[in-house]
Amino acid sequence: MTIRLYNTMTRTKEEFVPLDANNVRMYVCGPTVYDYAHIGNARPAIVFDVLFRLLRHTYGAGHVTYVRNITDIDDKINARAAERAKADQRNIPILDVLREITEVTYGVYRSDVVALGCLEPNYMPRATGHVTQMIAMTENLIVAGYAYAAEGHVLFRVKKKADYGKLARRSLDDMIAGARIDVAPYKEDPMDFVLWKPSTPDQPGWSSPWGYGRPGWHLECSAMIEATMGETIDIHGGGIDLVFPHHENEVAQSEGAHHGHPLARFWMHNGFLNVEGEKMSKSLGNFVTINELLKDWPGEVLRFNMLRTHYRQPMDWTVAGMTESWKTLEKWYAVTEPLADPPIGEAFLEALSDDLNTPAAIAALHSGTEHELAGGLGLLGFSNVQLNLAAKKLVDEGAILAAIAARKAARARKDFKESDRIRDELLAQGIVLKDSAQGTTWEIKR
Ligand code: AMP
Ligand code: ZN
Repeated sequence: MTIRLYNTMTRTKEEFVPLDANNVRMYVCGPTVYDYAHIGNARPAIVFDVLFRLLRHTYGAGHVTYVRNITDIDDKINARAAERAKADQRNIPILDVLREITEVTYGVYRSDVVALGCLEPNYMPRATGHVTQMIAMTENLIVAGYAYAAEGHVLFRVKKKADYGKLARRSLDDMIAGARIDVAPYKEDPMDFVLWKPSTPDQPGWSSPWGYGRPGWHLECSAMIEATMGETIDIHGGGIDLVFPHHENEVAQSEGAHHGHPLARFWMHNGFLNVEGEKMSKSLGNFVTINELLKDWPGEVLRFNMLRTHYRQPMDWTVAGMTESWKTLEKWYAVTEPLADPPIGEAFLEALSDDLNTPAAIAALHSGTEHELAGGLGLLGFSNVQLNLAAKKLVDEGAILAAIAARKAARARKDFKESDRIRDELLAQGIVLKDSAQGTTWEIKR
C-alpha cells in the first residue's frame, strides 16, 4: 500500500518512498527533561509511534530505525538545578543535582510513554553523550564559513545560507519579529543563532576550542541525527511549535555541515493540544501531566482519545472526550476476542496510509468485523484496557522513589538483608533498579 504523508517542507501531501527500504530512518525531537511531561508532550510521542508502527508493518520491523532524543543540556534544566540546589539541605554539587533531575525526569517520561502504548524507539541518544560530535560539527561549520567564534560563543551566520527560512517560509523580517532575537555585541547580525556558548564554573560545560561551554539546543539535534543515522534521514518529526526556529536552524546547520545535502526528506508536525478550550499553562492551573492522568485513566484511553483527532489538527483535550473514549473502548473489548496475530482490515490500513488519518481508521473499525477490529487495535498499539490498568500501577513514581530512599538508608546502616528485600519487592512489581556512581535509577522490566 502506498503511504502518503504531508510534508511541511513542500506544504503538500506526497507519496512516501524511503531512500533505502532496508533502513527507513525517522527522528523525533524528544523531551527536555526538567519536569514531568504534560499531555501536550504525549501527542508527538503517540502520533509518531503510530507512524513507526505503520512503517514497521510496511517495511518490516528490522528495517525501520526510529530515534527520539533526550534533551539533557538546556538552560531550563540549569535554572531548575540552581533552584533545587539552593533549597537542598544536603549541600551537594549543582552538577549532581542536575543529573538527579534529568535521570529521574527521564525515568518518569519513559514509563509514561510505555503506559501510553508507545514502542521504545531504537535509539534514545542523550545530548550529554554527543558533545564531541557537536564540537566537530561546529568546527566544520566554521571551516565552511557558516559560523564564527566571538567572545567564547560560536554563532551561525544566517546571511551566508541563501535559502534560510525555506522550511518555515517566513521573510527575514517576520523571523526577526517572531523569534525574540537577542541583540548581542558579539553578533555580526541579530539573526545569527548560537551553536556554542560559554558556561560559568557552576554550570554544566565541556572544554572546547572556544573555551569551557555548552552547545545550543538546535545543534544538539543536528549532531545526534548525524551520529545515529547519517547525513540524510527520511522523516523528521515534532510539534508544530518547533518549525521555527528549532527545525529551521537544524536544517541550516546540517546542510551547512554536509555540503548542502538535505537533513530530512519529509518534515512532519503535529498540531497543538489545548485543555478544555484553553492553552495549557501553569498560571491558568490547567497544566495536566501524563503521570497525574495515568492515576485516573488507563493509558490506552489517553492514546485512543488522542487518535480520534487527526494529528495535524489542533486538538481540544477534555474530560468529556476522555469519558466517551473509555466507553467506546469498553464496548469494543466486550465484543472482541484477543488474537495472537490478528489480521488488519484493508480500510483501516488505507486510512492510516493516507497521512495517518486515524479518525478515518477508527471509523473503519466501527464498521469492521470483529477480527479486523482486533488487528486494527494491534496496529495502533492497543493491548486491552485491563492490561493497561495493570501497567498504570507500575508508574507510581512516588512509591518507587520512597522505596529507593529506604533501600539507600538500609545500605547505609549495613542492613543488606533489608536492602535486598526492597530491591526484590520492586522487581516483583516489574521495577528494575540500576546502581551507579551517581546514585540509583529505576526502569520498567522489559
Ligand atoms: P519540549 O519538551 O517542550 O521540547 O516538547 C517536547 C515535544 O512536545 C515537542 O515535539 C513539542 O512540539 C511538543 N509539544 C509541547 N507542547 C505541546 C502541545 N501543547 N501540544 C502538542 N505538542 C506539544
Ligand atoms: Zn530537535
